[in-house]
Amino acid sequence: MSNKFILILLFLVISTTGFAQKKVVFIILDGIPADVLEKVATPHLDEIAKIGGYSRAYTGGIKGGYSETPTISAVGYNSLITGTWANKHNVWDNDIVAPNYHYWTIFKMLKNARPASTIGVFSTWQDNRTKLIGAGLAETGIKALDYAFDSFELDTLSYPHDLGKKYIQKIDNLVSFEAAYQLKTNAPDLSWVYLEYTDDMGHQFGDSPELHAAVELADTQVGRIFDSIKYREEMFGEEWLVLVTTDHGRKASDGKDHGGQSDRERETWIVTNAKNLNDYFKNEKPAVVDLLPSMLRHLDLEIPKSNAGELDGVSLIGAIDFSGLELIEDSGELVLNWKSYVKEGEVELYLSTSNNYQQGLPDRYELIGTVSTINQSFQLPKKYKELDFFKLMLVSPAQTAGIWWSPNKK
Ligand SMILES: [Zn+2]
Repeated sequence: MSNKFILILLFLVISTTGFAQKKVVFIILDGIPADVLEKVATPHLDEIAKIGGYSRAYTGGIKGGYSETPTISAVGYNSLITGTWANKHNVWDNDIVAPNYHYWTIFKMLKNARPASTIGVFSTWQDNRTKLIGAGLAETGIKALDYAFDSFELDTLSYPHDLGKKYIQKIDNLVSFEAAYQLKTNAPDLSWVYLEYTDDMGHQFGDSPELHAAVELADTQVGRIFDSIKYREEMFGEEWLVLVTTDHGRKASDGKDHGGQSDRERETWIVTNAKNLNDYFKNEKPAVVDLLPSMLRHLDLEIPKSNAGELDGVSLIGAIDFSGLELIEDSGELVLNWKSYVKEGEVELYLSTSNNYQQGLPDRYELIGTVSTINQSFQLPKKYKELDFFKLMLVSPAQTAGIWWSPNKK
């Protein structure tokens, strides 16, 4: 088929449907501290950030609070794909013993709303597909993915394991080529690309030329994938949201380990091509849990209110009403604080004392107040202070989000 013919076809598709197809790819580059990323030359990430933006970000939940989350790889991936912290998704380490699949992944949200949509995973670690997304598991209801390219780390014949982790470098490269190929040709509606080598160099050498070289290599691999995005946008008029991030930082002392709650371990970063980044992205430090609401927003995806009320993040693109939810005891009163992004409008506050959602059952919420968003604060009735647990759901014109009161679960 000639390019000209494709363009004519494309014109027909756009003029009959009236809107461009929206697609998402998110890429996790493992364990790159923000200060390292900013030090190393990364022309491809810079190119993406120039279209959209770059921000330092964080992982790890509320430090010292009920949602504190280990700065460990699989834990962070699952925070990204469920939009919740570990107190909900229940992945606490890389063993992934008992994920709580009632907190849906973005893959499940998309497939549930639009069964005909296509999803893909291109990954140097098989568990992302089989355990975190839970493809093929009855509990998740997610069948085999439309595009899956992983498991090479288990093929020790083709990729013999060497201490220097060259085999991981090779697999990352292979994965990036396949991702670039599939995104260019089949263009799944939602894709996850995961590359690991940077983390291996971090563990082995810490802050070092080896880690820096691995970051440069990862940048090249991202560039390969981004070329496919540019091709799709140009040739097919699709609108792509590209999100590149890391899952955790590393210890300040030597840059080797991670898992704790130090500033450098908690600090991550986000690079995106999104042109409609909001003031929250621009002025605050976003979190890994903000990526899922951003994907929902880009895909114009509606999810059930009960699911939305469990989300811990805020969209980084488009209009938002509030961010920075905080539920604290202040001078003996229970106070909910937030930051407002609007000049008018209201937030409805719903409260549930049960948490049946964790078992996949409905909770009964009662409306406890409707408050002007610009107030940025609401004092809860005293009786709730005595409770061990309750959760709030905030519903405003532009968003729905939730927060827990769980003073004894730290
Ligand atoms: Zn990691």
